[in-house]
Formats: sequence, structure tokens, C-alpha cells
Amino acid sequence: MSKAASTAPDVAHQRISIARLHGEACIDCGAVHQRLFPAGTLRTMTERGARVWSVVTCTLHQARGGAR
Ligand SMILES: [Zn+2]
Repeated sequence: MSKAASTAPDVAHQRISIARLHGEACIDCGAVHQRLFPAGTLRTMTERGARVWSVVTCTLHQARGGAR
């Protein structure tokens, strides 16, 4: 079984860039050139079920975080 080109599009993955899901960019704004802090986990739905990602946030959004 190869993961070829026909992977079903995932709504969450279309809305959130893979860099954010991988914890390489702020989950809110996509910033990468700042200090990034752990921001808990985010769950997306894929064709194989839920997947949990450890995400990060920039200084600005860390200060704002938790209020959601
Ligand atoms: Zn941010």
C-alpha cells in the first residue's frame, strides 16, 4: 500500500498549514521567526480518524491564549 496522490483532502489540513500542525509555526498567525512556546494539542480529523498534534504559539498569541 502506497500513500499515493489520492489522499482525501482533509478540511482541517486545508485550513491549517502543515507547518503549524508540526509545531514549526505559531498556530494562530503562522509566525516562524520568533520564539515559539508549547500551546498544547490540536486535534484534526483525517480519513483514518482523529490525529493529535502538538502545536506552538508565538509570544503575542501565548499572552492571549487560554481565553478561548
Ligand atoms: Zn502568533
